[in-house]
Amino acid sequence: MIQSLLLLLVSAFCAGPAWAQSPEEAPGVAPAPAPSNALAAKARGLYFSGDTLKAAEAFTAAVKVSSGDWRVWADGAIAWAEAGRPERAVIWQRKAAALNDRAEARASVGWALLRAAEPAAADEEFSRALASDPGSSWALLGAGRAKLALGKPREAVELMSKVARAAPGQSLADYYLGLAYEKLGDEPSAVEAYKRAVGADSYFYEGRATLSRSYLRQRRYNDAWRHLVKLVEADPGSKLARAMLNKVRPLLTRTAEPPTSPAATVALPPSETEPWDGKSVPVLRIGVSSTQMGRPRQRQGATIRGNGPWKALDPKTGRVLLTAAEGERWTLRRIPAKKGKKSKVRLEFHSSDGKVAAVPGDAVLLRGDEPATSQLQLEDDPDHTPRAFRGDLELALFGGGKTIRVVNAIGIEDYTHGVVSAEMPQRAPFEALKAQAVVARTHALFIKTVTRRHRKEGYDLCDEQHCQVYGGVKAETARTRTVVNETRGRVAIYKGKPAHVIYSSHCGGRTQSGVDIGWGDVPYWKSVPDSDIRETPPASPLELRRFLSDWPKGFDRPSSYVHPAHARWTRAVPAKALEEKLNRQFKIGKLVGLRVLRRVASGHVEALLVIGSKRNKKLDDELNLRSLLGVGSLRSTLFVLDTEYRKEAKALVPETFVFRGGGWGHAVGLCQSGAMGRAEAGQSYETIVRAYFVGVDIGKLDY
Ligand SMILES: [Zn+2]
Ligand SMILES: [Zn+2]
Repeated sequence: MIQSLLLLLVSAFCAGPAWAQSPEEAPGVAPAPAPSNALAAKARGLYFSGDTLKAAEAFTAAVKVSSGDWRVWADGAIAWAEAGRPERAVIWQRKAAALNDRAEARASVGWALLRAAEPAAADEEFSRALASDPGSSWALLGAGRAKLALGKPREAVELMSKVARAAPGQSLADYYLGLAYEKLGDEPSAVEAYKRAVGADSYFYEGRATLSRSYLRQRRYNDAWRHLVKLVEADPGSKLARAMLNKVRPLLTRTAEPPTSPAATVALPPSETEPWDGKSVPVLRIGVSSTQMGRPRQRQGATIRGNGPWKALDPKTGRVLLTAAEGERWTLRRIPAKKGKKSKVRLEFHSSDGKVAAVPGDAVLLRGDEPATSQLQLEDDPDHTPRAFRGDLELALFGGGKTIRVVNAIGIEDYTHGVVSAEMPQRAPFEALKAQAVVARTHALFIKTVTRRHRKEGYDLCDEQHCQVYGGVKAETARTRTVVNETRGRVAIYKGKPAHVIYSSHCGGRTQSGVDIGWGDVPYWKSVPDSDIRETPPASPLELRRFLSDWPKGFDRPSSYVHPAHARWTRAVPAKALEEKLNRQFKIGKLVGLRVLRRVASGHVEALLVIGSKRNKKLDDELNLRSLLGVGSLRSTLFVLDTEYRKEAKALVPETFVFRGGGWGHAVGLCQSGAMGRAEAGQSYETIVRAYFVGVDIGKLDY
């Protein structure tokens, strides 16, 4: 979700990513009149909702009656390229350029040639484009790429530096610039370029891979290590990244721990969650320090310190097992069973100065002596600095005694506070924070009372993105406290019951419907534009590219609250790396291509075919589409995809898959970025919530 650290002041970028512009949006050129060609309309419809290949064939039928319309040729060129016919795409782009002789159209021919592994011919087209418009970033970047492919890195550096300077913060331009510097043998400059690429978008993992390689060549092992660790975290199954990590480990000049591997699957305990009576403040049981999938993490001990005196109780009898003074550190240890005897795993408390307290059962309840102000701090939390919690902490053996599970039992208002401050930057506008509070509170209540997704783990919600990020007391401020107090008990309701309100970081410009994403026909999960201008969704290949190469125009446009990389992003995924990753699961053989099979009105890809030499594999759920198509996941499924080929024994084989995408997250329900933009524009939190969940109202819980 949105992390305040990532939010930068970005007014410099708000003019739009000039380099990424496609030909049709060149400034000062009036759009061509809409063609009255029903066949072209049919082809566009097919492209948008159906099979790319069928759409390409339909464009072939359309140009027979509209051969003078450059847009039909340009749309068809995109469809043919995406259908895996790069050479035909070149012919179609040439037709479009002949009818529409502008620099950008020439550059599009250049790009089609470049993707079809014809850098010399591409170079000529880019030169022609630059002769008529020397400032075209679209042509400059292409020309740089062509020079790089032709073994002229010095010229490539010169061209791509211009792009990187004109539109700073564009990962792709800096990435290619880094590659050009590498070819020149200028490693320090390559490092700087890669650092900019990764700095502009932390999800640009390709830049991390090249950056760590560059560091290794310069024997900067500690620097390489930091990025290799991130790569392994992003793709734990990658043998290559792990092997590199192992090679670098002995070379480090100070110790750095390898990343912890995810907890093993463990047996299921009975549910321990209490139903809610509807009158008292609901108490939530939060699984603390959980894995990304929301399971209890493997831990052999838990160290606790209080901001005042606290007690450990036997939850069954209420008996006091130990009394701890303020600031005293106690560690609950899991004591393994002794081999060969009838002994069981048990728990034992140890203080930092050597005292020991016995624990008769398999759980303890920790409670501060002053419940209103008490905070208990978990000192050893692998993914966090020590975190303090209001309410009680329950530590219990879990999974057949294999691990210690940590649960924070806390009232929903205090819990909401810990979510608001973790899920949205505190400096966000007030009404956006309030909308976040209402949605977070409602979401928690819904999970507790309706989906009950964590009953097998013995808690209501986990503290990770899987449910929603809960940070404990750490990030509380007077500002977030006010937000929670002023919305106390407020929840989103539909037909008198708590609604299933979900949210993501950035919708990309238009939210996605529940039906489209395959999550069911929830009446208030509709696709809505994140804007108050009436915008029609993109309806042709050209319009979709225009939509994704320009900033969103609505409430979620980049601002001092909305990071540009959340709104629009690029990736350049090497085909070899993707082939290796996909083969770990599907045994596809050689990766021959990727083809979109289904798109929806919001522009999101709902199904995609992975074409392999041995077998094809259809990917059709959000999680797989995002997690499998990149080295490290993609930010969203809202993207267009260009395949760049290389020649191998006269055949074209994929070299790189270039994604141009928008948004971060599933895009169903509330858009956190848009909520901040709406609040800035003066909307109230009620209006904001209702904008994303049409038909939902704000109600008040009875406590
Ligand atoms: Zn969860
Ligand atoms: Zn949005």
